[in-house]
Amino acid sequence: METLWSDFINSEWHDWRGSGRSEDRIGQEKWQNYFLNRWHLEAPVPADAEVIRTMREFRDRLHDMSERCARGGGLSHAELEELNAILDLGPVKRRATEEAGELRLGLVPVREDWRQVMAEVAAAFIRTLIDGEAGRIRVCDNPDCRWVFYDDTRNRAKKYCEDKTCGNLMKVRRFRAKKKLEKERGENPESDK
Ligand SMILES: [Zn+2]
Repeated sequence: METLWSDFINSEWHDWRGSGRSEDRIGQEKWQNYFLNRWHLEAPVPADAEVIRTMREFRDRLHDMSERCARGGGLSHAELEELNAILDLGPVKRRATEEAGELRLGLVPVREDWRQVMAEVAAAFIRTLIDGEAGRIRVCDNPDCRWVFYDDTRNRAKKYCEDKTCGNLMKVRRFRAKKKLEKERGENPESDK
């Protein structure tokens, strides 16, 4: 499952097919529009160069933190402070609303910019940890892919970001490696010519 924070991390894209190609999409207008639309956030596009730099730094830190959580680790005090610094970038205010006759009290963002977006990303990540689901954070088992995702499957055994892409590719690779080994050992008479 894609979450707000994992989608943010995955703006650094790696070619899962193993070409070694990667692409940092955070500075692209196309990615910025996609991200804002997908998560119903507001910010100016294109983002300015300075904010892109801050987003990249934050993304790299978040990537480190989520990888450690995926391995069963937790956050240090210093990392919590780093996240707090990001949360400070996006102040919220209380607001009462009425929808279909139902009165609600909620928090709404004060600003509509990329700093606010980063604060939302940090908040979503912390919420994942609070809900006791840090153990479901995964990094795709395909070493070329490294896609970060949240495993919401019942048996908590999802290894690949997508079974159709990475799952299949790794299956094929395992199969080929096995065949090669068999051939080397002379266990496969058909290929022994
Ligand atoms: Zn993958």
